[in-house]
Amino acid sequence: MTNDKDFLSFISGRDTQYSIRDTRINRGLLLVISGPSGVGKGTIREEIFTIIPDLTYSVSVTTRFSRKGEREGVDYYFVSKDEFEKMIKADKFVEWALVHGDYKGTPLDFLVDKLQKGEDVLLEIDVQGAMQVKKKFPEGVFIFIAPPSWKDLEKRLRERRTEAKENLEKRLKDARNEMKYAENYNYLIINDDKKVAIKKLESIIIAERCKIIKTNLNYKK
Ligand code: 5GP
Repeated sequence: MTNDKDFLSFISGRDTQYSIRDTRINRGLLLVISGPSGVGKGTIREEIFTIIPDLTYSVSVTTRFSRKGEREGVDYYFVSKDEFEKMIKADKFVEWALVHGDYKGTPLDFLVDKLQKGEDVLLEIDVQGAMQVKKKFPEGVFIFIAPPSWKDLEKRLRERRTEAKENLEKRLKDARNEMKYAENYNYLIINDDKKVAIKKLESIIIAERCKIIKTNLNYKK
């Protein structure tokens, strides 16, 4: 990575509107990952941070109960419904949605602050949230992770056993709906082999960091 602005304006040519993301001079990269629950997003996300450690994860706020092993401020910020609704009113979210019956939202200030500092931020959010982010940050990189088949997804959800039966049915129904959004994303990764899926995500991030882009990236609230 280079930080020499003279050198960069040289390779950017006369049109200073152009730059290369990898320079981090203008702003970090916004990466958004979605896909039905049970598709393996969580594992892929965890592994990508070990392969590309200089990524920043955006921790979501939720009203969902905390599962065994989940840590406050690491996996989620767990709040009450009342607190969440206050945060909505106070414009604290870049996006929020009701996901499988629970509120989930991405804190706005953290995201804008990190991007402005040049950090590459990764969001793992549902399709409703991703579409809201896309409207505000169209230059973001939207990656959809899909299962190889419905059967495979159902098997994974059953094996996870974090959900009650009716919740499982709901997640399967939601999955069918979520899959319809895939065409609005920039990339599709079919997770039929975890190692290959992670390699694909790594390749996307590396390629996006090398991309030559037009810059007009100042998000205004
Ligand atoms: P889980 O309850 O299994 O942790 O997550 C269920 C779903 O909620 C996943 O599809 C995940 O991507 C989504 N999710 C997590 N955080 C957010 C968020 O901040 N906003 C939105 N819209 N969805 C989220």
